[in-house]
Amino acid sequence: MIKKLLIANRGEIAVRIIRTCKEMGIKTVAIYSQADKESLHRYMADESICIGPNKISESYNNIDNIIYLAMKMKCDAIHPGFGFLSENSTFAKKCIENNITFIGPKYEQIDKMGDKSTARDTMIQANVPVVPGSKGIISNIKDAIETSKEIGYPVLVKASSGGGGKGMRVANDEEELVANFDIAKAEALSSFGNDEMYLEKYVKNPRHIEVQVFGDSFGNVVHFGDRDCSMQRRNQKVIEECRSPYLDEKTRNELYDAAVKATKSVDYIGAGTVEFIVDKDRNFYFIEMNTRIQVEHPISEMITGIDLIKLQILIASGEKIPYSQEDIKFNGHAIECRINAEDAFNDFRPCPGTIESIHVPGGLGVRFDSFVYGGYTIPPLYDSMIGKLICWANDREECINRMKRALDELIIEGVESNVEFQKKLMASEVFIKDEHHTKFIENEFMNK
Ligand code: ADP
Ligand code: ADP
Ligand code: MG
Repeated sequence: MIKKLLIANRGEIAVRIIRTCKEMGIKTVAIYSQADKESLHRYMADESICIGPNKISESYNNIDNIIYLAMKMKCDAIHPGFGFLSENSTFAKKCIENNITFIGPKYEQIDKMGDKSTARDTMIQANVPVVPGSKGIISNIKDAIETSKEIGYPVLVKASSGGGGKGMRVANDEEELVANFDIAKAEALSSFGNDEMYLEKYVKNPRHIEVQVFGDSFGNVVHFGDRDCSMQRRNQKVIEECRSPYLDEKTRNELYDAAVKATKSVDYIGAGTVEFIVDKDRNFYFIEMNTRIQVEHPISEMITGIDLIKLQILIASGEKIPYSQEDIKFNGHAIECRINAEDAFNDFRPCPGTIESIHVPGGLGVRFDSFVYGGYTIPPLYDSMIGKLICWANDREECINRMKRALDELIIEGVESNVEFQKKLMASEVFIKDEHHTKFIENEFMNK
């Protein structure tokens, strides 16, 4: 069993992992960059060490330093959280080579799924529906034009190593494809250090629905239901809910079958999310698999009552998933609002700065996962997430009402936040009637 665990991350997810470790009796070591010396995660951990300067490559992404520290501190495991090194197979491999348990899948599985174009091909082999698109990588504009003619416009040019909603461009016709293809390639190279591109049919105004899966080293795979993340801005999630109100039971079961099949096809071990887009006729298509814990995992915890970080740790320790599919029951409805330090009514400009005071909501079914406190200064170097406001209730309507009152109670002074924006979204008829889609905020809501 794991005795001491290093958290190779910062912010809210580092705090989240420490909480579970405490409950499991596992000692924790936090690492922090110089800019994060006031961050809550370093105070909550049993021990904490400065990993390096502010630059991500010299701190949270510095593989050699992190492994060195884990060994020096006698940690037997590392949890990578999300972002940073969580989907870096070299890091996962180096942990194993140094006898440190990596809380995540095997590095071979990260490789297979981390490259989005390869993952598509793997899914086609496994008979999981994918968005119509290119077979493998498209390396030049001539092939891109050829393939787009077959798929039919509009097409989406996507970076095979893209993530965080970045690295994709729409082309409505050949002219736009010619104009965008090389730009997209150059952007991918500078953002992800890799310019391999692939093409997908651009599905107009889809829903984003994903399935939380877990596999263990005994070949068992179970799912923890679906999450609807259709409320997005620039391909990034803004509100998530589970389970999706958009699916009928038949489609939902087909989606679960596809996600479990996808997971089994790569002998997956650990927590993963199989992401799909769903069109207006409720056809669903695989888009990618994230081989890590996800930002929005708490809503699945709320309706299943199961600690998913704990399950990750148990599986990485070699244990069996202690639940059969029938044991996993879905109770009520949950919604998460991402709370960011940004000025939503000013082109979502990030607003780092000092939080003078914060009042956190409470009451039945309310959870706030965060790493900030009154007096804390949000550094401008990392992402702008302040926290995640999560509500549970018996049904969707009650949950929306609870979220509205919890947002009313959440008062953040000193920095601009998107709380008012979230209140408006939560009150919008379109969301209440479940008629939104992934382009709703950009194309409809902000234009009003
Ligand atoms: P989720 O898929 O869990 O909903 P996000 O897409 O918001 O989460 O990503 C989680 C975190 O990881 C965010 O901080 C995001 O910026 C970061 N991230 C994800 N993929 C990448 C990537 N390929 N490169 C850089 N950052 C990434
Ligand atoms: P990331 O790795 O950045 O999370 P994804 O492939 O998961 O990238 O896509 C992120 C979002 O972009 C989706 O949730 C969806 O809103 C949009 N998207 C991705 N592929 C398509 C597509 N083929 N058609 C329409 N929208 C898409
Ligand atoms: Mg995604």
